Amino acid sequence: MGSLAGRTALVTGGSRGIGRATAERLGREGALVAVHYGRNGGAAEEVVASIRAAGGTAFAVRAELGTGGDVEALWAEFDRQILEHGDSGGLDILVNNAGITPRGHIEEVTPAAFDEVFAVNVRAPFFLVQQGLKRLRDGGRIINVSSGATRIALTDIIAYGMTKGAIDTFSLTLAKALGSRGITVNSVAPGIIDTDMNASWLRGNEAAEQSAAQLSALGRVGRPEDVADVVAFLASDDARWVTGQVIDATGGSQL
Ligand code: NAP
Repeated sequence: MGSLAGRTALVTGGSRGIGRATAERLGREGALVAVHYGRNGGAAEEVVASIRAAGGTAFAVRAELGTGGDVEALWAEFDRQILEHGDSGGLDILVNNAGITPRGHIEEVTPAAFDEVFAVNVRAPFFLVQQGLKRLRDGGRIINVSSGATRIALTDIIAYGMTKGAIDTFSLTLAKALGSRGITVNSVAPGIIDTDMNASWLRGNEAAEQSAAQLSALGRVGRPEDVADVVAFLASDDARWVTGQVIDATGGSQL
């Protein structure tokens, strides 16, 4: 029996990268995992298959966040499938992980790009939680994936960094609002992780990889599992007394 047996988890952006590693880890701990994705159904089905192959249970949920009716569509699909899997319809662990990282300095960010990154990274998790509150069981967990960009000034992703600042404030305030229900809310802030998000400049570019590795006190680029394991800790009973916090998972970047 895994430590999360009997719990249900929803991981947004569970089809790739940090979300995939998180979904797989929660699945190994025994949770029934809803693997959310936006467009890449094949990748989501791969994650579901890998969780099942490891003895777990999972299903995929599609909803493109940042578009009209996104959150309603996600919950409608979640509700439909969760009943099929024999759950009473509730949720124990919500991981708000899906996100985009458009590049742009202050001079370059257009109003449309600004609105899009806030719609996906901030508005979607906000309303996902708002509309999920009646599903979230007392004693549950909300884990929001933030970024080291709230602590380290990264001028080429200024709007993105601002969205993660908003997420950290969300975690702080929501932790207070939901504490009476025994629900904990925390942020996890990764540094540079080897995912598709960074593939264009990191993968196959030795010089870029070396300079990214040097940012971390531990001297390497992060792996999705490095973050997933922290999320799993926050989802576990061991983290019951931690709430309203930002857990830095940057491998000690720019200390
Ligand atoms: P990734 O490899 O690019 O994967 C992104 C995931 O989010 C995919 O599952 C994707 O679904 C989903 N997604 C993206 N936009 C979506 C949308 N509009 N609607 C629905 N789903 C959407 O990303 P990652 O690197 O794992 O990043 C995950 C989280 O960690 C993000 O919040 C990111 O800001 C944060 N983070 C990442 C790093 C890093 O270095 N990688 C550092 C700090 C923080 P599809 O597969 O369907 O496209």
